[in-house]
Amino acid sequence: MILTQCAVCATELGLSLGKKCGRCSTRYCGAECQKQHWEAGGHDKLCKKIKKAGGAEQYNANKKYAEAVTVAATACAEDTKGQTCYICTQALHWKTKEGLVRMCACRGTAGLAHVSCLAEQAKILVAEAEENNLGIETRDERFARWFACSLCGQQYHGVMYCALGWACWKTYLGRPEGNEIRLTAMRQLGTGLHFAKDYTAAVSVKEAELSMLRRLGANENDILITQGNLAGSYDELGRRGDSLRILQDVYSRRLEFSGEEHVHTISVAINYAVMLNDLERFAEAKSLFRKVIPVAQRVLGASHDHTLRMKWAYTRALCDDPCVTLDDLREAVTTLEDSERIARRVLGGAHPVTVGIESDLRNARGALRACEESDVCEAAEAVAAMVPPST
Ligand SMILES: [Zn+2]
Ligand SMILES: [Zn+2]
Ligand SMILES: [Zn+2]
Ligand SMILES: [Zn+2]
Repeated sequence: MILTQCAVCATELGLSLGKKCGRCSTRYCGAECQKQHWEAGGHDKLCKKIKKAGGAEQYNANKKYAEAVTVAATACAEDTKGQTCYICTQALHWKTKEGLVRMCACRGTAGLAHVSCLAEQAKILVAEAEENNLGIETRDERFARWFACSLCGQQYHGVMYCALGWACWKTYLGRPEGNEIRLTAMRQLGTGLHFAKDYTAAVSVKEAELSMLRRLGANENDILITQGNLAGSYDELGRRGDSLRILQDVYSRRLEFSGEEHVHTISVAINYAVMLNDLERFAEAKSLFRKVIPVAQRVLGASHDHTLRMKWAYTRALCDDPCVTLDDLREAVTTLEDSERIARRVLGGAHPVTVGIESDLRNARGALRACEESDVCEAAEAVAAMVPPST
């Protein structure tokens, strides 16, 4: 979590309320908490150390980063056993002693690395692009190294994305508030926390980001991105009403602002349709899917992550509907078979999307079989009643 609360009583302060320690910028709701923290909370001993690290926000990010790296390396320990980092060629990082990670589509001995090595590489590449004025496009291309594998091109997932999110945030948080890279870094962190399933922390970061954008008078595009992200984390926390309201609003503003073919419009349409489905508004969900899937197919292609996810979600809407028909089940099975092939090729067999599609395919096939059998069943039962089984 980034620092949005009083260090003593946890009162919410957003990014601008309360007061700060004059030396280290630790945040408090007021003088009383600050005094208590100094006298009884151990801040008298820690203040200098925090200031030396670059202030409270930096100190916090460094600490959280180290924790997140440990979590990611532990999660990958089995997969990376006996291997070495493709960047530094060592098993253990020379300085941090951290283990290896890999959460992308790389297989075999490819793509194993230390979070610290990946972060260092991304940082250098972005800095080079900025220093040499290589242009926004090159800079953004290089920035992708903070969240996507340079070998297989796929976005990292889970706790690895989160560890790099902290790395990214700790690298750029010292820039001025309105700085674009800093904002993107904050976004990386929010997304990473969400992928690591720490939804409370993700909401806190995203709410802080949204209020900062509004305070700075940011453009509509940035605000819509942040709102869309926030809706996803609200949903995971069970705040479905809030989530649906935001998605509805963001989708209609996106249509107006960016048009139906824009990747952001497609992306929010997926989330909106999924939410409608979760709320068991199946007819609305299916109609939205049927409207947007052909657009995604045309504009992004069948192998694109969005197209894949949307088709998968569409099969859920087909199967979850209690009024599901035989034709719906057949459509779901065909769509899932098709998606499974694409996911296996593009994302690899271990990716959570591939695994999820496979599991849904098994279920849909089972449901289809049961349905087909029960249709034939009546006739079969009549026959069975006349002819005793030959066993
Ligand atoms: Zn307080
Ligand atoms: Zn202090
Ligand atoms: Zn390394
Ligand atoms: Zn990879």
